[in-house]
Amino acid sequence: MNAFKELGLEDHLVQAINDLGFETPSEVQEKTIPLLLDQESDLVALAQTGTGKTAAFGFPMLQKIDINSRTTQGLILSPTRELCLQITNEMKLYGKHCKGLNVTAIYGGASITDQANQVKRGAQIIVATPGRMKDMISRRLVDISKIEYAVLDEADEMLNMGFFEDITEILSYTPSEKSTWLFSATMPKEVSLIAKKFMNSPLEVTVGHKNMGSKNVSHEYFLVGARDRYQALKRLADANPEIFSVIFCRTKRDTQKVAEQLIEDGYSAGALHGDLSQNQRDVVMKSFRAKQIQMLVATDVAARGIDVDDITHVINYQLPDEIETYTHRSGRTGRAGKSGISMVIVSKSEVRKIKSIERIIQKEFIKKEVPTGMEICEVQLKASANKIHDTEINQEIEPYLNEINTLFEDVSKDELIKKFFSSEFTRFFNYYKKSKDLKSQSGSHPEDNYRADDNSTRYFINIGSKDGYDWMKLKDFLRDTLQLNQDDVYKVDVKDSFAFFNTDASHKDKVLEFFTDFKQDGRFINVEITEKKSRDRNRGGGGRRSGGGYGGGGRGRNDRSNRSGFKSESRGRRSDNNSSGRSPRRSSDFKPSGGGDFSRPRKSRRK
Ligand code: AMP
Repeated sequence: MNAFKELGLEDHLVQAINDLGFETPSEVQEKTIPLLLDQESDLVALAQTGTGKTAAFGFPMLQKIDINSRTTQGLILSPTRELCLQITNEMKLYGKHCKGLNVTAIYGGASITDQANQVKRGAQIIVATPGRMKDMISRRLVDISKIEYAVLDEADEMLNMGFFEDITEILSYTPSEKSTWLFSATMPKEVSLIAKKFMNSPLEVTVGHKNMGSKNVSHEYFLVGARDRYQALKRLADANPEIFSVIFCRTKRDTQKVAEQLIEDGYSAGALHGDLSQNQRDVVMKSFRAKQIQMLVATDVAARGIDVDDITHVINYQLPDEIETYTHRSGRTGRAGKSGISMVIVSKSEVRKIKSIERIIQKEFIKKEVPTGMEICEVQLKASANKIHDTEINQEIEPYLNEINTLFEDVSKDELIKKFFSSEFTRFFNYYKKSKDLKSQSGSHPEDNYRADDNSTRYFINIGSKDGYDWMKLKDFLRDTLQLNQDDVYKVDVKDSFAFFNTDASHKDKVLEFFTDFKQDGRFINVEITEKKSRDRNRGGGGRRSGGGYGGGGRGRNDRSNRSGFKSESRGRRSDNNSSGRSPRRSSDFKPSGGGDFSRPRKSRRK
C-alpha cells in the first residue's frame, strides 16, 4: 500500500501526493499526520523549514475540513508574506483534487479588497500574516469565529518579529474548542509560553533534536581581523565559483552596504531588507530564484521564509545577536536532501560564540583558513577549464574557422591552451598576487584559547558516526571510560567509521594503555596517536572543495559563474582595473533583470 495511504490519508489526497512525486513521507509527516487525523487535539511540533512540515499539517487539515461548506474552518498564521504565499501554493497543490476548495492568502502589500472578495467567495482555509489578518478582522472582512483548526507556523519567527500581541488578539476571535497546531524550528521560552497560553495538553512531536540544525549542513568558521571581513567574504565567493548563497548581516545598513559593495566589485549580488519596498523585495527574490543573483545579502527578518531549495552556502557575514537565530540561518541550505555549507566569518572577540552555537546545533564547526590568492586562482582556473570542456560547439562558427586556424598555425595545442587560459588566470592572478593572506592568528579554535598545541596529543579511534557517535557522545564516552575530567577530551571530530580527538600530552600513556586491549560489544576499539596537523589541514584545507574539481558542478552554476566572472569582452577593462587593485570581477557583468535600482532602499530614494 502507498506509504501516505498507510498514514490514513484519503485517496484524492494520495493522488495529489503522487502528482507531486512525493514517494515517502518525511519524518515530521510520518509522526504528525496519523496523530492529527486520529485525534482532535492540540499539537506542538519542533521541525525546521524544509522538513515537509507544510504537508504535515496541510493534509490533515484538508482531510478534516468540510469542502462543501463555505465557512472558514482553517487558519494558518505565518510570519512573512513570502511564507504565506508558499504555504497557500502548497495547500492548493495538496488540495488540487478537492473540488470546491478555496485557499485564500491574506498578507500586506496587496489589495485588501481583492483579498476580502476572495474570502467572501467562501474560503475554507485562510493563510495569513498576523498584521494584515488583524486589519481584516477589525474591518470585519473575515470571520474566524467558526474555525476548527488554527496553525501557528514558524512560531519562533513570528515571536521574534514581535507578533505576540497580534497573535493573541487574532486567536481571541477564534472559538476556544478549536485545535491549535504549533510548528516551530526552535523552542525558546516565548514559544513555550504561547503553547501554555493557547493550548490544552498538546501532543508533542520532535523531528531530530530540539534546536538542532539540518544534518545535511556542515559548519565552518573563518577567523579574520575585524577589518578583513569584507575581503574574506569576497575570497569565499571567489573560491566557490558555483556559489548560490544567502549572506546574513546584522543590520539593514550593513546588508545594504555589503550588497552595494559586492555589486560594485562585480558579483551578482542583491540586498534584501526591511527598508526596501515590497515591490523591490519581490524583484530581488525573483532574480534570486531565477539564479540571476548568486549572492543574496539579507537581514534575518527579511530572509524569513526564503524557500529556495538549492542554496549551496549560507555565509554569516556577522553572527546574529541571538545565537538561536543561527539555526534558522543555516537551515536555508541543506534542504530537500541536498548538502550545504554554513560559513561564519568571525573576529577574535566573537570566536567564543562558536562554542555556544556548537552546543545548540550539537555539531562541531570546522575551522578553516580563508583561501589564499593562489588557491583562488587555481579554483577559478579549474572552473573555467571545466566550463570550456563542457561547452557545446556552435556549428555556426564553422565558416570562420579557416581564418582562425591559419592565425594559429604556428601555435601548438599546448601553447594554445596556455594562451587561452592565461587570459582568465591573469585577471585573478594580478588581483591576488599582491594581496596578503587573511590567515587567522594562532589559538583560533575556541578550545585552542586555553591549550597549547605542543602540549596536546591527537588520536585516531576506530569508531565513528556509523557506530552511533556524534562528537558529544564520543566525548562523553571517552571521558567516562578514561575517567577524565570535563575538559580533558577536546577537538573531537567524528567521521563515518572513525574519529579523532585530543587530550593533553600528560594523559597520553593512560589513553594508550587503556585502549591496548579494549573490547566493546565484542569488537576491539583501537586508539592510535595520529599525526599532529592543524584541524583544517586534516580535513583537506580551505576553499577548494566546492569549486575546484575538474568535472564537478552543474551546468546551471557554470552559467552563473560565466555571468559574473568570465565575460570575454571585458578583458581589456578588467586588466586596467586589476592594475588599480580592484576586484577581478566587474560590476557590469551582471545586470539584474529588475533594473538597476532594486538594491537601493526606499528611504534613500525618497531623499
Ligand atoms: P516545507 O518544510 O513544508 O517547507 O517543505 C519543503 C519542500 O519539500 C516543499 O517544496 C515540499 O513540496 C517538499 N516535500 C514535502 N513533503 C515531501 C515528501 N514527502 N517528499 C518529497 N518532497 C516533499
